[in-house]
Amino acid sequence: MKKIFPIISKISGFVNISKDEIRKIFIKINNAHIYSKKYNFNSEDLIILIPHCIQNYNCKVKVTNDIDNCKKCGICKISDLQQLKEKYSVKVFVATGGTLARKIILDNRPRAVIAVACERDLTSGVRDISKIPVLGVFNSRPNGPCVNTNIDMREVEKAISFFTCK
Ligand code: SF4
Repeated sequence: MKKIFPIISKISGFVNISKDEIRKIFIKINNAHIYSKKYNFNSEDLIILIPHCIQNYNCKVKVTNDIDNCKKCGICKISDLQQLKEKYSVKVFVATGGTLARKIILDNRPRAVIAVACERDLTSGVRDISKIPVLGVFNSRPNGPCVNTNIDMREVEKAISFFTCK
């Protein structure tokens, strides 16, 4: 996948296409490549990385260390992610940047990662991590970048089911 991104970038140089569109294509190719394979991991071997902007901007609860601190008011998707964590016994971490995401992966040694982020962060994450499969899930940004972003939880559940063969 590392080799594919420069090729896509080069081709896109000939057509009028935004950087985010290129990144989106790259992540879609990456996901299609992973979905074409078969895995049978335990859910405990997966980690879900989410960006901090999923948390409601006005919420005072500190979920960056532990999403279990969420009071489950339901305003943002942190409460849904916490339920998902309990339902599937997966690890869920808030990664406030690439450095922390790398540290979380090094510390936890997962067999696969489900990463939720914008096109730019997903692209750098997928290009960074080459030894384990990383499925990318785009967050939606109805309020603009980095504020009160959203996730389609069905996509995250689909990725968990795929990696655990359920
Ligand atoms: S769901 Fe949790 S993190 Fe989100 S606003 Fe409510 S208490 Fe805060």
